[in-house]
Order: sequence, then C-alpha cells, then structure tokens
Amino acid sequence: MVQIKTPEQIAKMREAGLVVAAIHAATREAAVPGATTKDLDEVARKVIADHGAKSNFLGYGGFPATICTSVNEVVVHGIPSDDVVLKDGDIISVDCGAIVDGWHGDAAYTAFVGSGHAPELIELSRVTEESMWAGIAAMRNGNRLVDISKAIESYIRRQPRPAAGEHSLGKFGIIEDYGGHGIGTEMHMDPHLLNYVSRKRGKGPKLVPGLCLAIEPMVSLGTPRTEVLEDDWTVITTDGTWSSHWEHSVALTEEGPLVLTAPDGGRAKLAELGVTAAPDPLA
Ligand code: MG
Ligand code: MG
Repeated sequence: MVQIKTPEQIAKMREAGLVVAAIHAATREAAVPGATTKDLDEVARKVIADHGAKSNFLGYGGFPATICTSVNEVVVHGIPSDDVVLKDGDIISVDCGAIVDGWHGDAAYTAFVGSGHAPELIELSRVTEESMWAGIAAMRNGNRLVDISKAIESYIRRQPRPAAGEHSLGKFGIIEDYGGHGIGTEMHMDPHLLNYVSRKRGKGPKLVPGLCLAIEPMVSLGTPRTEVLEDDWTVITTDGTWSSHWEHSVALTEEGPLVLTAPDGGRAKLAELGVTAAPDPLA
C-alpha cells in the first residue's frame, strides 16, 4: 500500500531530510585520500547523534554501519571498513539516512576522491545525478510512476557515449537490480521505482500530493548487471566497470515537488529544469 502524508508529516520528513543533507556535507568533506570508509561512518554517526536523530541504516537487515560506502566498481551497499583506504583517483558513493520522530530520510551522492579523474568518470557522475533530477522534475501531480522511470532512462539514453578507458567500456549501463522506493514511516515502502521502463510493470500508481519517493538511479560505465559479494551486502558490477549512485527523497505536494534531502529543497536545480519547487515547510 502506498502511504500518503499530510503536510504536517511532510514537514517532519523535511526535518529528517535536512539531517541527511548534513551527513552528506560532513562525509563529503571527509572523503579525502588516506581516509578510511570507516572514518566516514564515524563522521556520519556523529552528525546523526548531534541532531538527536536515529540511523535507519544501522541494523537494517543486520547492516553493521550508519552509511553505505561504495567505492569504484561497488554499486551500492558497501560496508564501511578500516581496511578500505580511499586513494587519489577513487570515486565513492555514500548512501545514508536518518529518522526524526519516526519519519525517514534517505539520500546518496557520488564524490571524487582527490583529483585528476578521467573525463568518463566525471561524466558518469554527472549523467547519474542529472538523470535523478530529470526523475525528480517528472514527479508532478497527474503524472504516473512510470513517468519518473521514463524521465531517468531517457535522460541517460540521450547522452553521448562515454570514452572507453581503464574503468569504462564506453557505454552507460542502467543498473537493473535496484531502484527507488516509497519512503515515510519506513525507509523502504511501496511503490518500487524502476530506473527504466518495463512493459511488464505497467504505468504504476498516479502521483498525488502526499506521495514521498526516494529517487535513486545507479549507472555503470558498462553492464547493467550486478552481483553480491560473499559478505551478502556489497554489490558490484559484473564487468568491473565503475559506477555512480545519486539519490534524493522527494515529497509531492499540492504545490509541486519538495526535495526533502536537498538543503534548498531542490529549488535552484528544479528552476533550471522549468519546475517550481514547493515551499519549504520549515522555512
Ligand atoms: Mg539510499
Ligand atoms: Mg533508497
């Protein structure tokens, strides 16, 4: 069942979203050469505690940490570790969430560790992030769930092919095994949101005020396929190409989308795309 929120509940989710945004800012700053992914987890843990919030990742299905740290060919669900030391030239996707008064936020970004990254890696992250925004811009009253999937997929398919290189087969692979989801009193709720259009899945529910979704494309520089490592969490591309993950939690209101996990509610970026973001209930 799809959970529909009242404006008051969306304001609570905005509070949780801003905690997630604060974790993003702090972990981004900490993602430098020589840091371990466990260091980033500690940073996140502290931000959550400082805000009096709770982690929705820690203990989820037995997950042992506060954030997911997915480096290079790891797509999602990487476990922070003292043994994973970030190196100049790596890319890392950090996925995290927070709970405030029972309401969840969930968001992810990809960052470049150090400098001197190949153009195809920079393009990979840009295309993944922009496809997320294309999906967010499609979260409009009257649209259907499939319109978000379509916007994400068609954005990616419109891009010129990336260069082939050490970490790239010279194409974008839209990861098929994972996708977005409803979010509210739980992190993962109905409906599941594909990052591509599947005829088998139909159009999905109508997008109505009070619907909250985590929109989260994952894209590789090669295959759409993934496998899970022995630790039962770490998801990698089957061809070893590097991948990117971007995510925001978004509420649909009478006045349009509000990006709960973006500091400005998505206002600036959505304006570029010709969409007016809903007013921030906490502003
Ligand atoms: Mg997430
Ligand atoms: Mg998510």
